[in-house]
Amino acid sequence: MRFLSSLYSLSVFSSKPHPFNSIFTPLLNHLHISFIHCETHSTQQTLLFMDASEETLRKTLTEKQNSVTTQANVVRNLKGAKAAKSEIDAAVEALNALKLEKTSIEQQLQAVLNSDGSGNSLNREAFRHAVVNTLERRFFYKPSFSIYGGVAGLYDYGPPGSAVKSNVLAFWRQHFVLKENMLEVDCPCVTPEVVLKASGHVDKFTDLMVKDEKTGMCYRADHLLKDFCKEKLEKDFSLPVEKIADFKHVLAVLDDLSTEQLGAKIKEYGITAPDTKNPLSDPYPFNLMFQTSIGPSGESTGYMRPETAQGIFVNFNYLYYYNGNKLPFAAAQIGQAFRNEISPRQGLLRVREFTLAEIEHFVDPSDKSHRKYGEVVDLEFLMFPREEQMAGNQAKRTRLGDAVSKGIVNNETLAYFIGRVYLFLTRLGIDKERLRFRQHLANEMAHYAADCWDAEIECSYGWVECVGIADRSAYDLNAHSAKSGVALDAHEKLQEPREIEKLVIAPMKKELGLEFKGNQKKVVEALEAMNEKEAMEMKATLESKGEVEFHVCTLGKAVTIKSSMVSISIEKKKEHQRVFTPSVIEPSFGIGRIIYCLFEHSFYTRPSKAGDEQLNVFRFPSLVAPVKCTVFPLVQNQEYENVAEQISQSLTGSGILHKIDITGTSIGKRYARTDELGVPLAITVDSSSSVTIRERDSKEQIRVGIDEVAAVVKAVTEGQSTWTDIQQRYPAHSSTAVDE
Ligand code: AMP
Repeated sequence: MRFLSSLYSLSVFSSKPHPFNSIFTPLLNHLHISFIHCETHSTQQTLLFMDASEETLRKTLTEKQNSVTTQANVVRNLKGAKAAKSEIDAAVEALNALKLEKTSIEQQLQAVLNSDGSGNSLNREAFRHAVVNTLERRFFYKPSFSIYGGVAGLYDYGPPGSAVKSNVLAFWRQHFVLKENMLEVDCPCVTPEVVLKASGHVDKFTDLMVKDEKTGMCYRADHLLKDFCKEKLEKDFSLPVEKIADFKHVLAVLDDLSTEQLGAKIKEYGITAPDTKNPLSDPYPFNLMFQTSIGPSGESTGYMRPETAQGIFVNFNYLYYYNGNKLPFAAAQIGQAFRNEISPRQGLLRVREFTLAEIEHFVDPSDKSHRKYGEVVDLEFLMFPREEQMAGNQAKRTRLGDAVSKGIVNNETLAYFIGRVYLFLTRLGIDKERLRFRQHLANEMAHYAADCWDAEIECSYGWVECVGIADRSAYDLNAHSAKSGVALDAHEKLQEPREIEKLVIAPMKKELGLEFKGNQKKVVEALEAMNEKEAMEMKATLESKGEVEFHVCTLGKAVTIKSSMVSISIEKKKEHQRVFTPSVIEPSFGIGRIIYCLFEHSFYTRPSKAGDEQLNVFRFPSLVAPVKCTVFPLVQNQEYENVAEQISQSLTGSGILHKIDITGTSIGKRYARTDELGVPLAITVDSSSSVTIRERDSKEQIRVGIDEVAAVVKAVTEGQSTWTDIQQRYPAHSSTAVDE
């Protein structure tokens, strides 16, 4: 959970080489941006600045522009002076040459500006267009309620999308719930106000919004500022150096700007409503929760939960008891979350209703070791600690164990979950080169949090936070305990009872009543609320002077307390158990974001055999693939259809999700259709005794007897054998018979 959530980590923190696929043009060098630290009065400000190539190009461009202006004047003067034609022509030629050079520099600069670590923006957009087009055409997902015009931020998953989602969730359950013996719960989406008041959501779960002053249209303030700065940086080549530094600095600190600072920047830059160019209101907080009322009277306010975690916290006592009153343990929940995003964009990445899968791992705050830490200690992947971000460096491959021993990751349990999240995402098919764990900057983290890391996945939109992994200390349990009055504690039986000293304040209610009458209750409460230092000072004064002046806040005045009115002592007690509030470590998975990134990381195109079109392929691992195999009779005839039916029954018997395609279209077209759904294997029935099995990415085929087909498909799609193993056991089949 995070208040004032943001979609992206800024792509200025972008790194390394990469993707947008071999089908799109070669990638450009990355724009590396460095930070310059400069002292301003007593504060140290971090200024984002250009990298060398950008700086050089901007300088060269300014010089070239000056040369163009000078040469244009030369031409104008020559013409004015009616100089010889040959002289004018030579000057015009020189001017044209300069203009050409200027255009070339502009193009180079544009290329540098567009390359943010993920290929140039045109390629990114073309790539995204190809992926989304395929996804929507094959009904992986589509905007909801589209026949009525749709509603922004709401999407339906169609058959293949639902299948991918349920595969991802099944693997999540297997990888986390099963492996860790987590306690899975299922709580309601409708949540009474008091719960979300205690958690802080009613007061603080907000984004800053601005309104078009004339039409009332709403925009997210930080998005407008971000778009403005990015556009200026990308399109305005005449920006002076200080302005460039200013825009980059704003982009870097966007998440940290206060309401006033954000409003001031919007005013300073003269930003207007994008649709109408009308003036904008000052920014103000907009609560992202959908409000509702529970019951017919309308008196009981409720909200659609913005996260699933609160359902776990309020059940802590029952879960702890269920777990035999033992720590550590983890509870998990998969369910819908609702956030009334101000202006949802970027498809599945920012929606108004989405599936969250959350884990709350409860642990003794004095011992955050993890018994299975050894299983992840040697994992190496891209980590981006806050110091590296602040220094303008890149994410680096880091051994998880080293990050813990150097104190970069706060504790073993947090590291254990970071490691498990890495394994989860990469096994799903997320490219490990486009996955990084970014630590929250100090001011990005909630004040109570001990440490937070986001699993960020790079896609055509930039680096996107897909999983948040936070050590939230005891904040949530304490908050619910204070609000509900129900202790949410854990107990540890002590080996040896220990002696403790306890402050005992005993107000004499009868004496106090006689003296203070109607105010007695407030005086009693104030006495009981004293801390040890205050109480011991009062005791000393009462013993020496017999009375003391005591300020009662709730009365707004001081009263005289006599020694007969209160007894203060320190008593020794034997304690047999330690009572404490557990810390919670929370990995929180945005399933839709993970799935969208997976779609992008799995997508590629290849030319058709005739070379006249590009065919789309999703290289989903079998684990994720919506359908594990397809069965086609090579030609439409009853005999082959019967065999296909027989194979289908044996696949069903083996629990393999498959699809029969008996349409008469060419086998090549049918392969293309299944590749587009990411189906790993295709069975073609071309005889009544054996069939061919084709692997999606290599397009290689083997020949297998009908009775063995289901076992082969099961072994490959469930991971007991690889395709290479299988190829060694069965004869290869040349594809000449098949129209690919
Ligand atoms: P948060 O509680 O804000 O840290 O969000 C937890 C996870 O939910 C994030 O890591 C995202 O993956 C996901 N998420 C948050 N907001 C949205 C949204 N509007 N649409 C889709 N996923 C979201």
